[in-house]
Amino acid sequence: MLGLMQDWPLLCHRILEHAALIHGTQEVVTRSVEGPIHRTNYAEIHKRALKISQRLDRDGIRLGDRVATIAWNTWRHLEAWYGIMGIGAICHTVNPRLFPEQIAWIINHAQDRVVMTDITFVPILEKIADKLTSVERYIVLTDKTHMPQTTLKNAVAYEDWIAEADGHFRWKTFDENTAAAMCYTSGTTGDPKGVLYSHRSNVMHALMANTGDSLGACASDTMLPVVPLFHANSWGIAFSAPSMGTKLVLPGAKLDGASVFELLETEKVTHTAGVPTVWLMLLNHMATNKLKLPHLRMVVCGGSAMPRSMIKAFVDMGVTARHAWGMTEMSPIGTLATLKPPFSDLAGEEALDILQTQGYPPFGVQMKITDDAGKELPWDGKTFGRLKVSGPSVAKAYYRVDADILDENGFFDTGDVATIDPNGYMRITDRSKDVIKSGGEWISSIDLENLAVGHPAVAEAAVIGVHHPKWDERPLLIVQLKQGQNATKDDILKFMDGKIAKWWMPDDIAFVDGIPHTATGKILKTALREQFKAYTFPGT
Ligand code: ADP
Repeated sequence: MLGLMQDWPLLCHRILEHAALIHGTQEVVTRSVEGPIHRTNYAEIHKRALKISQRLDRDGIRLGDRVATIAWNTWRHLEAWYGIMGIGAICHTVNPRLFPEQIAWIINHAQDRVVMTDITFVPILEKIADKLTSVERYIVLTDKTHMPQTTLKNAVAYEDWIAEADGHFRWKTFDENTAAAMCYTSGTTGDPKGVLYSHRSNVMHALMANTGDSLGACASDTMLPVVPLFHANSWGIAFSAPSMGTKLVLPGAKLDGASVFELLETEKVTHTAGVPTVWLMLLNHMATNKLKLPHLRMVVCGGSAMPRSMIKAFVDMGVTARHAWGMTEMSPIGTLATLKPPFSDLAGEEALDILQTQGYPPFGVQMKITDDAGKELPWDGKTFGRLKVSGPSVAKAYYRVDADILDENGFFDTGDVATIDPNGYMRITDRSKDVIKSGGEWISSIDLENLAVGHPAVAEAAVIGVHHPKWDERPLLIVQLKQGQNATKDDILKFMDGKIAKWWMPDDIAFVDGIPHTATGKILKTALREQFKAYTFPGT
């Protein structure tokens, strides 16, 4: 027997309709790419998003067509998201920090028909435009006054383009499983892979993100997503904030410590979200200038591990540091660290021990750890294995890739290696391709890196597995020293000795001038492996 409840498809644009109707005057404030602070609200954004839909419809964009955006966090970009999705077209966010060849590859793979871009990225697009054969026109997210001279095909200023629509348009209703948005993973191995979100997965994810133990922002709060709309589905904030009626503050192109601080302070921001690098810049700026943020209540931090010292810095300011783990394939929330019972009353170092884990999943994410053969491993906080997940906002396949990515129980292998403790707290120990397999046992490269950066002379550290005739692989520690600082191999090894198992100690240390990073700021181990491909350990 089926239930007798209404068939109400979970469509992304219903979120903005709700925001416009119930929280219409709630502000959306942007540091515009052109410079000045711009203020609008959800009712206006809704009106203009309808014009975008109408205008795209007139240009012949139909259900399932891909429309790319290469843009900073601004009100125009937000309108574009909803305008594209409202007609069942697919909003493909492209990461402008990728190499131009990768951007071209991704746009061609997605077969984007229209590209919406900020003025910042016009020169990059001009260089690759002749390769972008599927693109029919470029819409530059600006007005007539700021429209640059460009060779881009059929280029038009966004404000002129939408001025041709009157907004008398109704958003479409269709199956909630229809594709809504697309985001390619950065492809640190092989080609980038397209994750294709559905309307349903995005709405489900927004509901999950809205819970108090998740992003936890409500109608009386103000959220500043430093995380870009193009990074892993904006961590869901483009949906969760309007669904709650949370005021949004969008930082545009300026993500340095001083600019982010200024917006946090002047707009009295309560909640913010971004990667550790951003918070490092903010904390440095605040410490140097002895600044305070009395309104700030929560900093969500993910993308890579949040260092303990950073968690402590926020906790000491009276701000909740919410360490989160996730990935593009998960829309992206996987787990968040909060002090739940029996840990609610912990303080000091004991609290930091919990807050430093990647946390536990909200309802809607299931996880397990397995060995290489797929056998489930115990949740004892010590055994580590491949982390696998399932849920309504987790990918089941990649776009135009003919490969099964789920195990026989429908779980997706995250590529991360983790432990899970009896209370459900997960701790990432490595990426599966980075873990060092020494004599049949696993060594966590992340644990070694975290330990090495604790040495006062070390700026950054990376560990890779290098072939060893006896042990198969052994760890090589690659170190970039802080400017003007000195430390020898023996100094660093002595510092590490006794803090980890003897057999985890690196076999050698290589000093380098710089460590390469991916477009999302993570250490690029593939490049390091290439760089050290001819390396052999002394005496082997
Ligand atoms: P990109 O490489 O494009 O940034 P993702 O954002 O999807 O792609 O990256 C997801 C990966 O980032 C995870 O699988 C994990 O390895 C890493 N990651 C994300 N959050 C954390 C965290 N809090 N701690 C450690 N690693 C993290």
